[in-house]
Amino acid sequence: MSETGQPVLHRLRELIEADPDGFARKVFARLFGASPALRDMFPAHLSHLREAFTQVLDHVLEVLPADDGHDDLIELLAQLGRDHRKYGVTDKHYDQMAQALVTESAALMGTEWTQETAETVAQAMLLTTGVMRGAAQSAPGPATWRARVVQKFIINRERAVVRLAAVDPVPAFHAGQYLETRIPQWPYQWRNLSPAIPPNEAGELEFHVRAVPGGHVSTAIVKETAPGDVWTFAQAHGTLHVDPDRPVLMVAGGSGLAPLRALLLDMAQRADSPATHLFYGARFPGELYDLAVLRELATTNPWLKVTAVVDEAADPWWIDGAPAPAQWGFEIARGKVGDIAARYGDWSDRQVLIAGPADMISSTKLRLRLAGVPSDRMRHDPVHH
Ligand SMILES: Cc1cc2nc3c(=O)[nH]c(=O)nc-3n(C[C@H](O)[C@H](O)[C@H](O)COP(=O)(O)OP(=O)(O)OC[C@H]3O[C@@H](n4cnc5c(N)ncnc54)[C@H](O)[C@@H]3O)c2cc1C
Repeated sequence: MSETGQPVLHRLRELIEADPDGFARKVFARLFGASPALRDMFPAHLSHLREAFTQVLDHVLEVLPADDGHDDLIELLAQLGRDHRKYGVTDKHYDQMAQALVTESAALMGTEWTQETAETVAQAMLLTTGVMRGAAQSAPGPATWRARVVQKFIINRERAVVRLAAVDPVPAFHAGQYLETRIPQWPYQWRNLSPAIPPNEAGELEFHVRAVPGGHVSTAIVKETAPGDVWTFAQAHGTLHVDPDRPVLMVAGGSGLAPLRALLLDMAQRADSPATHLFYGARFPGELYDLAVLRELATTNPWLKVTAVVDEAADPWWIDGAPAPAQWGFEIARGKVGDIAARYGDWSDRQVLIAGPADMISSTKLRLRLAGVPSDRMRHDPVHH
């Protein structure tokens, strides 16, 4: 970045900061004006998209003129480029986006827009869209792939298990990763879901979905998904994995069990799996829906120990007829799963994998840190919000 370029980008950032959403609206209006078909590829409500867009743009205008942070910025933009493949974004759209950004920047800067300013801004915008485009072009595998629902069952009023068989070749991903997922009931909404079984040659997938209150996609899955539905998947993300050289502590809350279960099933196929203790927590005993599978895993894999944890001792009336967890022979503790895990023993030599709702992840991390587990030894996925 030239010395004269720095103040230009700082100034543009300052002007955008006064009304970021207004700027984003104008850029999108210009973009969709140039390519009306592009509008149809995005959700009906664009507020989330605009928010993400303004955050990235702010970050670009902050980091580009700075002395460091460029590598991370390039990686972030590359990831965004790969993410946008699923919307059907093409090279032409990147040109139009760069053009829209420059035009709206010119309008915003008014009399401050000189030949030199124009060159600096154009260079920054072309770099940004160029990195995204380049990463999208060089990303391996197809942008999306499909699988058909073959079975669905309801576990309780808010939770379902959905099994699918791939229709297209499945791009490589690892046990413990999550997939960008779209269902036919909400054709423009992408959500992250974690397969509960490892990827396999037969292309079988299983998901455990909890209907969050007021949640569009999760409620539709629990209430409406039926065999025959075709789901679309895009990229796999996530860094949850097991390093074979170190014993493992896993802490799962609710549907957070899914990625850890996929890892355990994967470990069960290997000869060298390290000692692993899983704490699996739910509000009520009847919500510990997967104990039968865990029992089977623990019986055949002596490296695995499971402790079930519940907030409440008894089920409410609406959990009807769930088998008592004690019948599976696991010890059952009462409390918050992170607290119970942290108090249980010395985990300072362990690698720790945590999965579940955002508040459960942060409280578990805090408890374990206080109990002597270094932060860099704890892994979890990005939290939900
Ligand atoms: C890495 C990752 C992996 C995930 N894996 C799974 C999985 O395997 N199974 C699964 O069921 N879900 C999983 N989720 C959550 C899933 O991606 C959706 O966020 C969730 O299903 C809600 O989507 P929705 O369309 O129903 O809700 P939206 O319509 O997007 O949201 C409606 C309301 O619910 C709130 N909300 C959104 N998400 C949550 C939440 N998780 N908890 C509480 N309130 C929420 C919103 O703030 C909003 O008020 C995962 C999320 C992440 C980030």
